[in-house]
Amino acid sequence: MQRIYLDHNATTPLHSEVREAMMPYMMEHFGNGSSIHAYGREARNAIDTAREQVADLIGAKSPSEIVFTSCGTEADNYAVKGIAEFQKNRYGKNHIITSSVEHHAVLHTCQHLEKHGFEVSYLPVDRYGRIQIENLSEAIRDTTILVSIMHANNENGTIQPIEDVCEIAGSHGIPVHTDAVQSVGKLPLNVQELGVNLLTLSAHKFYGPKGIGALYTRRGTRLENLIHGGTHERNRRAGSENVPAIVGMGAAAALAKKHRESYSQHLNRLTNKLRTGLHERLTNIYENSHPEYCLPGTLNISFEFVEGESLILRLDMEGICVSTGSACTSGSMEPSHVLAALGISPQLAQGTVRFSLGKDNTQGEIEEVVEKVPAIVEQMRAISPVYKKKMKRDANPRNIQ
Ligand SMILES: *Cc1c(COP(=O)(O)O)cnc(C)c1O
Repeated sequence: MQRIYLDHNATTPLHSEVREAMMPYMMEHFGNGSSIHAYGREARNAIDTAREQVADLIGAKSPSEIVFTSCGTEADNYAVKGIAEFQKNRYGKNHIITSSVEHHAVLHTCQHLEKHGFEVSYLPVDRYGRIQIENLSEAIRDTTILVSIMHANNENGTIQPIEDVCEIAGSHGIPVHTDAVQSVGKLPLNVQELGVNLLTLSAHKFYGPKGIGALYTRRGTRLENLIHGGTHERNRRAGSENVPAIVGMGAAAALAKKHRESYSQHLNRLTNKLRTGLHERLTNIYENSHPEYCLPGTLNISFEFVEGESLILRLDMEGICVSTGSACTSGSMEPSHVLAALGISPQLAQGTVRFSLGKDNTQGEIEEVVEKVPAIVEQMRAISPVYKKKMKRDANPRNIQ
C-alpha cells in the first residue's frame, strides 16, 4: 500500500540534495572542527559555510550570530534560560512573558523557571490562537526580562504578530525570542524585519536532518550559556560539533531559501483542495486555524462526534498518516494545551486532527484523502450514540425552528 504522509509539522523527510551534502562528512571528511590539521580545517570550513547559509536564510547581519544546537528544543531552552539566568544574576529581574500556545520546549522551560524564582505571564489567545497585542502591553513590568512568542504554531499553523510584539517590547528595552521552527521554508523570515533578538530553528522541519538546530542571537544580546565545556561555537555552546548534521542544516537552509515561494504556493493549493473537499462531504466539522494568518500546509480540523485517536488509527490502516494535535502529546489522553487555549471543549478537542502537508504531496494524494476521511468519519459517527441521538433530534419536526 502506498502511504500518504501528512504529518510534516512533526518532521519532514530528508531532501536528497541534503543527504548528498552530508555524506562526505560522515565518511572521508570525518574531522573534528577544533583540530588544527587538514581534517580539522575541512570540518571547520564546512561548519562556516553552513553557518553562512543559515544566516543568509533569515537575514542575519553576521554568521557569528548563529549558534548551532542539538535541536530546536535546545535552542528554545538556551534562549529562555540563557536570558533568564543572565538578567537575574546581573539585575535581579525575574519576569518573563510568553503565550499559552507555545511549543512545550518553551512552555515547560518557563514552568521550570517558575520553580526557580521566576515569574511568568502566559498571554491568552483568541479563538484561532492569536495573542492580542494589548495584552502584551498590559503584561509588561519593570522586572520583565524576556518576551518569548512563537512565530507560527505547530498544531494549528496560526501566525503571531511578531513585528508588533518586537515594537512594544523594544520600546521597553526588552529582548524578544521567537520559536520560528515551523516557519522556515513556508513564510518569509527575516530577523531584521521581524526585529527579534533571538530566533529558534530546527533542521528536520525543513527537509534537513534530525538532531540539529540553531539559535539566532542578535549581536549585543547577552545570555548565559546552557551547555558548558570546551570553546566550541565561539565559547557559546560546548561540545564537538555534529558536522554532518550542521552541513545538512546549511544545505536545507539554502534549499528553503531557493524554493520557499514555489513550495508555499503548492502547499496552499493542496490545503485549499483538502479543506474544500472535506467541507463538501462532511457537516459538523470546524477549523481551528486562523482564517487569515496561517502557515501554508497546516489544516487543523475538529470532527464532531468522532474520537480523534480512533480516526487516526483508522486512517493509518488506510496508509494515511496524520496526527492529533501535536506529535508530542499523541499517546497521552490529555487534550492539547493549544486547543484548550483556543477555548475548544475537551470533547471537541478529542476529535481534532492535524493535517500538515509537505512539498512532495500530490493532488492525487489529496483526492484520495478527501475520499477516505469522510467515509471513515461517517462510519464512526454511525456507531456513535451521541451522534445518533442528535440525528433523531434533528429529524423531529418539532425541533425545526
Ligand atoms: C518541532 C518543534 C520544536 C522542537 O524542535 P526539535 O528539533 O524537534 O527539538 C520546537 N518548536 C516547534 C514550534 C516545533 O514545531
